[in-house]
Amino acid sequence: MNNLTDNLTWIKDDLNGKVTLVAVSKNHPVSKIKEAYAAGQRNFDENKVQELMEKIDLLPKDIRWHLVGHLQTNKVKYIAPFIYMIHSLDSAKLAAEISAQAQKNERVIDVLLQVRIAKEETKFGLTEDDAEKIIKNQWAGDYPGISIRGLMGMATFTENESHVREEFKVLRDFFREVKEMHFTNEVSFDTLCMGMTGDYRIAIEEGSNMVRIGTAIFGSR
Ligand SMILES: *Cc1c(COP(=O)(O)O)cnc(C)c1O
Repeated sequence: MNNLTDNLTWIKDDLNGKVTLVAVSKNHPVSKIKEAYAAGQRNFDENKVQELMEKIDLLPKDIRWHLVGHLQTNKVKYIAPFIYMIHSLDSAKLAAEISAQAQKNERVIDVLLQVRIAKEETKFGLTEDDAEKIIKNQWAGDYPGISIRGLMGMATFTENESHVREEFKVLRDFFREVKEMHFTNEVSFDTLCMGMTGDYRIAIEEGSNMVRIGTAIFGSR
């Protein structure tokens, strides 16, 4: 019995091919990432730049590395050459730095705007107004080198399912509104990233098409 592989197979069945699974490998060793890779997983998420940098050289080059969690502007330069998607764009300052580093590397970096949907004050993320400001600045040409692919949000950590569902609905509605207002003719604004181990089924029911799952794949950290 291989638990990790079984977990992955089971989750993928659950996602039904319609939702992108990003495996959150933070705090887990390279050996486990290799196991998931061998089972066909290609999208992985880390939340600390230093840990990510230590891992990449030990792992296959066709892995698509995502970054979750608050990103300090002074760390962007390390990941700019290879990062596949940054899920945590949470300030105009960070957008400007990702843009600058993307251009230095002659790349376009895919990003998600992290929107604060949870009531908890500890969560990072943009207000809806600030997210829209960044989108408008992007259209005005402020951030070449960045492609805004969608939105990301984290629900409150609670057993209260209807509360979690309400928060996901708010983000889904905002996603649709933004798409209609700012990306009508763009296919590139296509990612609504919400849901983790404890709440991904609810998130998918509410329209998520990218989930970030750690514990259900790798076990507890
Ligand atoms: C750690 C983390 C996850 C994964 O959480 P699990 O509960 O282990 O699935 C997802 N998203 C973010 C932003 C995280 O920091």
